[in-house]
Amino acid sequence: MGRGGAGWRPGLCALVAGVAGPSAQAPQADPLRAIAERYVRLVLGVGQHDGDYVDAYYGPAEWKTEAESGRAPLAALDAEAQSIERDLATTGVTPPVAADGDLWTLRRQYLARQLSAVRARLSMLQGRTLTFDEESQALYDAVAPTHTEAEFEGILKDLDGRVPGAGTLIERYDRYRQQFVIPPARLDRVFQEAIRACRERTLRHVTLPADERFTVEYVTGKSWSGYNWYQGNYRSVIQVNTDLPIHIDRAVDLACHEGYPGHHVYNVLLEKHLMRDRGWVEYSVYPLFSPQSLIAEGTANVGIEVAFSRDDRLAFERDVLFPLAGLDGMRVTGYYEVLALVDRLSYAGNEAARRYLDGVIDRAGTTAWLERYAMYPKPRAEQRVRFIDQYRSYVINYNLGRDLVRQYVESRAGRGATPERRWREFVALLSSPRLPSGLK
Ligand SMILES: [Zn+2]
Repeated sequence: MGRGGAGWRPGLCALVAGVAGPSAQAPQADPLRAIAERYVRLVLGVGQHDGDYVDAYYGPAEWKTEAESGRAPLAALDAEAQSIERDLATTGVTPPVAADGDLWTLRRQYLARQLSAVRARLSMLQGRTLTFDEESQALYDAVAPTHTEAEFEGILKDLDGRVPGAGTLIERYDRYRQQFVIPPARLDRVFQEAIRACRERTLRHVTLPADERFTVEYVTGKSWSGYNWYQGNYRSVIQVNTDLPIHIDRAVDLACHEGYPGHHVYNVLLEKHLMRDRGWVEYSVYPLFSPQSLIAEGTANVGIEVAFSRDDRLAFERDVLFPLAGLDGMRVTGYYEVLALVDRLSYAGNEAARRYLDGVIDRAGTTAWLERYAMYPKPRAEQRVRFIDQYRSYVINYNLGRDLVRQYVESRAGRGATPERRWREFVALLSSPRLPSGLK
């Protein structure tokens, strides 16, 4: 777990705060209240066995303390998960009178699917081995398509002509990209400006609580490049990993993905609309290895293109961020054309992880695969293998998540929709409990 949600303030939400005390009365009866509370306690219990499991928690502090002091064994947690599943199947089948029927149905389906993912993670913690695809289906409600080396070779051929110089393609690409590194002394200024621009664009379309905010920290020694630790009370801590050089394109990508309209906004909207307004306490906890993560990563990535059209992005980079980083703004277009080609290789990262976790290739082979087919220079490829060791099939959430969310938003908004229309569908998705399999 990253940072605990110590930010719970009693009294902020009478409905949820009331859950903490056994004698407290809820203002409105929620048939799923007891089940939702058991689910939260279950997830906190699993977190005692898996340090990465609880990504965010901002419910009552005593539930966390109880999970820590009780430390239920894995088998007992699974028995409790099964019991909650059984009770959920027969509880709240008819929506309460005041509830929106569709949203209520989504809530029950979501809770059931999150519970089955909890059970899958518990079985893995108990030593069960799943294939890459079985694992991603069980945990994230999705399976990534497979791609052959030949498909990536075709993209590499296109890229080859775009990156001049001597040496192998990866050497040339690495050298080319080094020209777009943000000097460390300018990193914070560049990043703060990117956040300001992402937030400004987001606030034109999304109403956020007045006291939402996040802080940025620069860290080292991590397998990821950036991380949002949601604290509750509409606050996030965003960490940026500076182990490796940070390229200029990452400023807007990270600011949108981790902040606006990505993870920070997603968590703020869930807290506001589901947890506080409706008192659905299950949203006070976020188990990382669950379908919620595909929606979280997918929306965070699609959020980049929702916030910035291509022209807007290129102009902002050319006129603002490149100069702030001391880079030549006239090179923006060429740089982004190369990056667009490299982005088409993103599924090579899934192939590397699938082969590695299924035992087809070893660690060195995986690093080599990432260098050859995904255009990861060696240090980044090694960092990525450490990420795969830690987070396993989670890798699909970024690119498959992005593609599923993009299709969903486009199909609802219609092709060629106005930015306003796209924003509307995007925000509706951020504010509702929709499952990956429900995006189709
Ligand atoms: Zn993310």
